[in-house]
Amino acid sequence: MEYGGLLNEALLRAQPYTARGKTATYIGELSKKDPSHLGIALCGPEGRMCSAGYSSEKFTMQSISKVVTLIAALEQNGAESVFSRVGMEPTGDAFNSMVRLDLLSGSRPFNPMINAGAIAVADCIRGNNVAERVALCLDFARKLTRNPSLSIDQAVLASEKATGYKNRAIVNLLESNGVVSGSPEEILELYFSMCSISADCRDLACLAAVLAGGGTDPFTGERLVRFDIVRLVRSLMVTCGMYDYSGEFASTVGIPSKSGVGGGIISAAIGKCGIAVYGPALDSHGNSVGGLKMLEYLSDEMDLNMF
Ligand code: GLU
Repeated sequence: MEYGGLLNEALLRAQPYTARGKTATYIGELSKKDPSHLGIALCGPEGRMCSAGYSSEKFTMQSISKVVTLIAALEQNGAESVFSRVGMEPTGDAFNSMVRLDLLSGSRPFNPMINAGAIAVADCIRGNNVAERVALCLDFARKLTRNPSLSIDQAVLASEKATGYKNRAIVNLLESNGVVSGSPEEILELYFSMCSISADCRDLACLAAVLAGGGTDPFTGERLVRFDIVRLVRSLMVTCGMYDYSGEFASTVGIPSKSGVGGGIISAAIGKCGIAVYGPALDSHGNSVGGLKMLEYLSDEMDLNMF
């Protein structure tokens, strides 16, 4: 079957599952999305882009942005410096859990894909002021999605700031543990801004394709990210990218992926293609219910499971 037929079939099969999930409500703006919507885009070799469903509906990247900030931090500071602040181990806990930070006073967050880890990574980004640091990371996202008009959804950003109690607690805990040293409010400004970047499936399929291709632009072949950084990031996506469902996802789908509570998931099928799925109805782990079903189907049909 051609890409187009496969994507439509994936969408059709996943549609009934959307009724089993709910939009995120702890960030008020996210609850306004229609939980029945599904979108998908695939970016193949030579930038062959194909999409189906609500693939041009905008949604916020949320935790998918953790991948972009991590790449920017690694490019700027190198792995040794970044991983002196954050580990590489999966937690098996929810994305916003603080349990282990509390228990292990003074220790680094487990990995950069959970909130605590991403907040520590945000503190690694250098720049003269917070506006400059946000601009640098947003530019990075624009480059990796090949979309120069990618922007921050100000309504979601305001909503995140209004109810980000747990993230505030996390940054303060990290500050008191000596893991971060910048101003907590500025670190959160960068973290929330990245979560609030508005994108669609086609933008994110391009980002996924850059990762799938080892760091090169799928359309031009230009190197955008160093290969050693891409390899590191892909491995963290496998072990930690799908919240406390990462192990099961590796077993059933087997593609380095990163999920966000906005309903998006990016999947980088190494050497093959980049996929982005969207469906704002989430399961209890925070993963898009319909998105998971589409990826399960495509992984099987297109033989994308890396294991
Ligand atoms: N902005 C969200 C938060 O910090 C991101 C969570 C997610 O997508 O996992 O709670």
